[in-house]
Amino acid sequence: ELEFAGKVALVTGGSRGIGAATVRALAAKGAAVAFSYAASAGAAEALVAELRGKGAEVTAYRADSADPAAVAELVRAVHAAFGRLDILVNNAGVFLGGPVDQMDEAESLRQWTINVVAVQAAVKAAVPLLPEGGAIVTTGSVLGRRVPLAGVSAYAASKAAVANLSRGWARDLAPRGIRVNVVQPGPIDTDMNPADGDLASVVRPLTAMQRYGKPEEVAAAILFLASPAASYITGVALDVDGGMEA
Ligand code: NDP
Repeated sequence: ELEFAGKVALVTGGSRGIGAATVRALAAKGAAVAFSYAASAGAAEALVAELRGKGAEVTAYRADSADPAAVAELVRAVHAAFGRLDILVNNAGVFLGGPVDQMDEAESLRQWTINVVAVQAAVKAAVPLLPEGGAIVTTGSVLGRRVPLAGVSAYAASKAAVANLSRGWARDLAPRGIRVNVVQPGPIDTDMNPADGDLASVVRPLTAMQRYGKPEEVAAAILFLASPAASYITGVALDVDGGMEA
């Protein structure tokens, strides 16, 4: 039941959406959880209070993924504060839409830094700290596999990048006993992609199930990949997409 008892997990971007659901799920299974946020201090505080009220060990850290050095520092700070680090969930991400003729290079670079470079910085910082049996899970996107709609090219490219980085890291880190995997959500009902938002009429019909997913449905896959039940799984990108890729 308390599958993650004694384990320490860090979730980046844990204040809202898929990250918050992952923090809740890890805490419910007995993990001590640290999570980062950038802007949503109120949401972060509320989540900490909610979970501490249930007896969980949870701490929020402000660390802006637009600054990869701050993310590396976050990883080391969490390891120092909790005394160990077993699971790294790279979830913080931003979505910057728009067709190529309207793309702003500075904004694209910021998205790339948050979605890709900060993930690399977190993994690099975590490698010397993770034990044998450690696990890294990154939130990619089904758009990292294929691009079935217009106006998402730069975001899709950033998610393709984390998928292929993770395949390479799986190779790099298997000798250390560290597994590296990606979850690739389809449309998930969060602030980033509300089920009643502008994108919904385009993406909902692309799913076999004809519905949005819930953050908890992605968190369940993240927990599986982070758990010993997935001990022979590394370098995969697991679609959690209601059959969008079917
Ligand atoms: P939300 O916008 O609902 O939540 C994003 C989370 O990331 C928040 O906790 C936010 O914290 C944090 N975050 C954003 N920017 C930064 C930053 N610069 N530094 C630190 N934390 C940051 O998004 P989702 O929950 O939907 O998305 C989570 C992940 O899932 C992302 O990587 C996203 O790309 C991916 N994804 C989402 C899909 C969807 O349909 N919703 C589909 C496929 C992938 P704060 O508010 O404090 O900045």
